[in-house]
Amino acid sequence: MQNISPTQIISQIDSLKQKVREWKNEGLTVGLVPTMGALHIGHESLIKKARQTCDKVVVSVFVNPIQFGPNEDLDKYPRQIDKDLELCSKNEVDVIFHPSVEEMYPEIEDQSLVCPPESYKSKLCGLTRKGHFDGVATVVIKLFNIVQPDTAFFGQKDAQQLIILKKMVRDLNIPVEIVPCNIVRNADGLACSSRNTYLSDEARQKALSIHKVLYEIKNQGLAGITSFEVAKIHALQLLHKDIEVEYLEAYDFNTLKLSSELKINTLVAIAVKLNGIRLIDNILI
Ligand code: AMP
Repeated sequence: MQNISPTQIISQIDSLKQKVREWKNEGLTVGLVPTMGALHIGHESLIKKARQTCDKVVVSVFVNPIQFGPNEDLDKYPRQIDKDLELCSKNEVDVIFHPSVEEMYPEIEDQSLVCPPESYKSKLCGLTRKGHFDGVATVVIKLFNIVQPDTAFFGQKDAQQLIILKKMVRDLNIPVEIVPCNIVRNADGLACSSRNTYLSDEARQKALSIHKVLYEIKNQGLAGITSFEVAKIHALQLLHKDIEVEYLEAYDFNTLKLSSELKINTLVAIAVKLNGIRLIDNILI
């Protein structure tokens, strides 16, 4: 039988701050893995990385209302704290921070916001998700202020988010090291996502064409095709006909500047809708 170490769930900001203060007094380092829960092997890879490199690991599980638009899936977003606790315990997480909305946003109507620059937040996912990255930046700053981590772990699955947060930390001199983590895929190639739980078996089969488009573009790039547009037109033929493309773009992985060329360090990212479910994925050339 596996040795399961107890993971404590803390819901109050003051209690967590007190715990972190004790750790810091002992000279221990703290790693933070921010999540919205419904944890899967993608999240687990971030947690494992944190466990390997930090003395203490905090995983936040908070479905952040201010990053959802009015017609998005806030209410039906999967919430499964018992299963999350199991996964965290198995990975020897010290604390799950699981606050209520009221605890995080006691004055939600008049909440101060952290706003990333337009040039970063208004393209790609920001085109259809107005206010999304203000919500993300705000909750991440709040989590940083509450947990005061030395290191925070984010997945490349949400590449635009990662680039925006790295910039925010640079621009605002926030003393947290951001560690990017590779995308984890299921055995069939579909990028792991909490939203995959919405997919029927049939839809999931169709969704397998999403990463095939990305791999096809990468292969064309590696085969010497430099025009992203040429590669895109060809690769889109692989996408299942029931899938609607919101965007398929190439951009520089450091600056988020859109690129017409397929070259090293170009990130090709896709967002689609399938049966009303929004899915994103990307690949680095
Ligand atoms: P979420 O719970 O969707 O907000 O994700 C929390 C963190 O896990 C973010 O930094 C995501 O980029 C990361 N993440 C989600 N899915 C994956 C995945 N398939 N591979 C790697 N990281 C992921």
